Amino acid sequence: MGGMEDILREAMRGFGFGGTGFGENGHAQHRGRDLLDEIVIDLKDAFFGTTHTIKFTSAVKCDKCDGNGTSDGKPAPACPTCGGTGFVHARQGFFAVETPCPDCNGLGKKIDKKCSACDGTGTVNKQRTLDVKIPAGVMDGARLRMAGMGEAAPNGGTPGDFYVDIHVRPDKRFERIGNDLLMHMDLDFATLALGGEIEIETIDDKKLSVKIPSGTQVGEKLRVRGHGMPTGRGGFGDLYIEIGITIPKKLTEKQKKALNEFSDTKPSKKGWF
Ligand SMILES: [Zn+2]
Ligand SMILES: [Zn+2]
Repeated sequence: MGGMEDILREAMRGFGFGGTGFGENGHAQHRGRDLLDEIVIDLKDAFFGTTHTIKFTSAVKCDKCDGNGTSDGKPAPACPTCGGTGFVHARQGFFAVETPCPDCNGLGKKIDKKCSACDGTGTVNKQRTLDVKIPAGVMDGARLRMAGMGEAAPNGGTPGDFYVDIHVRPDKRFERIGNDLLMHMDLDFATLALGGEIEIETIDDKKLSVKIPSGTQVGEKLRVRGHGMPTGRGGFGDLYIEIGITIPKKLTEKQKKALNEFSDTKPSKKGWF
């Protein structure tokens, strides 16, 4: 296979387009169209990985003729006009140009008796189902490629690829930052000032107890190692808990007294903060 042919084939690829290249035997070889779909998943699905089944209709290889387009199902002989390349050379002024062969319409084959099921195209439209395996830790906007799962090519060529764009829905509790997760947690003044232990629920629904150091400030982010998203390399990102505060709207007399006593111990009249 020559370098020019590779370049030509690459240039003809792209979404929505089949391409024409040259097979090993030098015959014209078409490539099936690439297909593109999208799947929306939850963050938890992205954590565990999941499988989605999609249904669609696309061109598949004709069973009756095995993709050859012939009534007997055998490969058709090469077109004598173009010698099987699907192109003929013509002169335009000083330039030699290649145009699709008028005898075989660029197919490179001469089909005398067409297959009745596919009318000689070698492909038929069929309802298909595809199981899309979405890996754990998949990022929003990731594009998965399933080689050879696109449309079948006419003329028994290479099938296209199937691409799936993954969209991960924003989660109510966790914000994703790369492989890390960020959650918000409001705590009362006493717990922040004195320190303590709180229980949180992780993305995989596990209860986890987290130590709050004494003197924790509002806006501080506490890191819980290894409870973020899978990295795809066997590890996990971290979970960050952003600390907020809850201020009670009503206090009991006992609480008021305790807070007043606390307030009286202030080192200056300017306050603590
Ligand atoms: Zn031809
Ligand atoms: Zn057929």
